[in-house]
Amino acid sequence: MDRQRVLSGMRPTGRLHLGNWMGALASWVELQEAHECFFMVADWHALTTGYQDTTGLRDNIREMVLDWLAAGLDPERSVLFRQSEVKEHAELHLILSMVTPLSWLERVPTYKEQLRELNGRDLATYGFLGYPLLQAADILAYRATRVPVGEDQLPHLELTREVVRRFNHLFGEVFPEPAGTLHRAAVLPGVDGRKMSKSYGNFIALTADPEEVRTKVQAMVTDPRRIHRADPGRPEVCDVFVFHRLFNAENAEQIAADCRGARIGCVQCKKLMAARLNEVLEPVRRRRAALEEDPELVERILEAGAVRARREAAATLRLVRQAVGL
Ligand code: SF4
Repeated sequence: MDRQRVLSGMRPTGRLHLGNWMGALASWVELQEAHECFFMVADWHALTTGYQDTTGLRDNIREMVLDWLAAGLDPERSVLFRQSEVKEHAELHLILSMVTPLSWLERVPTYKEQLRELNGRDLATYGFLGYPLLQAADILAYRATRVPVGEDQLPHLELTREVVRRFNHLFGEVFPEPAGTLHRAAVLPGVDGRKMSKSYGNFIALTADPEEVRTKVQAMVTDPRRIHRADPGRPEVCDVFVFHRLFNAENAEQIAADCRGARIGCVQCKKLMAARLNEVLEPVRRRRAALEEDPELVERILEAGAVRARREAAATLRLVRQAVGL
């Protein structure tokens, strides 16, 4: 596979959960093996929906980056940086905003969805409408060619591609059109059957201790029609089985067969899952504990990353200014 330049980011929400891990982080760790990767703490993006309360932002950044490192992101191979430390993102966002029709932003599906879902927050702001364009600037500041995304982010990537075509048409070929790579795993269910999410409080943290993992797995939703131990189960509708497939792939077929034949009960099946999950998470927990010993580590990594990121983004902005005639 060609070595490509990859850009992706996460809003700093503090400690990550298994949904974040399977959704994005595991893909990032794989991508850094073969590609030149820039991974960004999207702190300006955090302001677009969370500007009214920024008290936990700094701590959240530290906690999230520690989880990135514990999960295997390597700052020697990948550039890990904080978005707000690379001002070129803001300059490019401004320039792109001049050529982007308002209607393109208004029709992004997540815009209306989030306005509806996050009611209670005042999101009728210029920044909130414009955040998909800020994402475009994040990607284009590095002239990235590959962007790992979840399915819900595909319309944002499409917007970026449209903006690239328009910019290049107006000012000459400056940007490549980035391609999307879907994350490896689909959406992971939380312990209550809904999508695993911090805002639902239904998550299992990446660094949850063994007891917490056991308790949360015991609470998970199984096949609702399997009421008695002797009832045959349907693994295809069971959230615990989603976990078996992801974290216990080598035994998943056997478990599915035993479930269908009522040879295994849900309590036992969950015990197996929790034990397996604890096995998988143990090295992550150990790495995280070792990383926490150095209180300056995250700052050092992000500062060094910002220097590398700025160098690349500054080179892009020189091209952009020249093309635009500034
Ligand atoms: S036995 Fe396992 S896979 Fe089957 S319904 Fe129960 S928890 Fe789900």
